[in-house]
Amino acid sequence: MNKRLLLLALLPLLANADTVVSPATLALHQRLLVLDSHLDTPLTLTRPGWNILERHDYRQDGSQVDLPRMREGGLDGGFFAVYTPQGPRTEEGRAYASAYGLATLTRIRDVIDRNPDSFALALTADDARRIAAEGKRVVFISMENADPLSSDPALLNTYYRQGLRMLGLVHFMNNDLADSATALPEWKGLSPKGRDLVQRANRLGILLDVSHASDAVFDQMLALSSAPIIASHSSSRAVNPHPRNLDDARVRQLAAKGGVIQVNAYSDYLIPLTPKPERNKAMAALGARFHNLAALSPEQIKDLYQERDTINQRFAQPKADLDVFMQHLLHLLEVAGPDHVGIGADWDGGGGVSGLEDVSQLPVVTQRLLDAGYNEQQVANIWSGNLLRVLQEAQARAQP
Ligand SMILES: [Zn+2]
Repeated sequence: MNKRLLLLALLPLLANADTVVSPATLALHQRLLVLDSHLDTPLTLTRPGWNILERHDYRQDGSQVDLPRMREGGLDGGFFAVYTPQGPRTEEGRAYASAYGLATLTRIRDVIDRNPDSFALALTADDARRIAAEGKRVVFISMENADPLSSDPALLNTYYRQGLRMLGLVHFMNNDLADSATALPEWKGLSPKGRDLVQRANRLGILLDVSHASDAVFDQMLALSSAPIIASHSSSRAVNPHPRNLDDARVRQLAAKGGVIQVNAYSDYLIPLTPKPERNKAMAALGARFHNLAALSPEQIKDLYQERDTINQRFAQPKADLDVFMQHLLHLLEVAGPDHVGIGADWDGGGGVSGLEDVSQLPVVTQRLLDAGYNEQQVANIWSGNLLRVLQEAQARAQP
């Protein structure tokens, strides 16, 4: 076989391992408004000396989002999450969560205030389009785990005035507001406090997020909410039966009420994992030792990542790849229809698969969507149109 033929024979292999993005696709991708509905980048911002204006390497520090990589991957922005780890449900725990939430909110606002040429706060769909047209990054603010509001739900008004536009009630563990998808039922859905918070969010026009919530919370929130709702970072339970993913029936119900599901790139949810209790134990111990991320020195952060890598190597789990991520995305597009699906990849919060490791690689998703037969308008809707529509609808139904 001559060299040319050999190359041709190898080409499909190369294309499979590493999706080749055509120049036309890259140009289209850069032209589109590309938003992600769940960025955990506020966690990265706690690292001393870490600068969002500088380019970092995922393989070196685990970070996945910064301004240079956003530009490279055509990511115009998204929802930056005020995420609070669920702590003890005591008076002291609630006070800690409240302070923690406000500190995270301040950190997000600081990014905007300190870098006004690069980042701007978006409160509406029109803001997002205008900010991106000015060549700046769009910063929406969301909340993941509403425990900071447990002690005083009226604090939601303060968050709203500071820019909060999306609200998820719960995380890995149950809280005072709702049951988690990854815990045993306690409230059988929403608690009375949780119901009150849903109504408060509706009145303010804050988009309600069901990611991390139990199926019962999903059902109750869908029935109770006067506006369409979102799953900001959830994948398909039909493709992989993990409780964090949504089943087809619920995906259809979500779409029928005008909502959207934003597919997640969190490997553990995308593929079946063999249970490894020893790994969980080691990770929990590591988490306990480094639980206060905000207080870690650069050396401690390096240690944290090194030890995490060691645990990952000792108890290696298979990692999902771009093909599996696309399986989830394409299945959800089939079930919900292209007007009800978007992307919330959980960047800086555990998201990322082989072949899609940080936001600089986002154009491969556009290429795969085009290859699967989706047209330019549909791809535009998947990258932001659907997300902005559902936000707009929540705001249109607000009753201030
Ligand atoms: Zn999450």
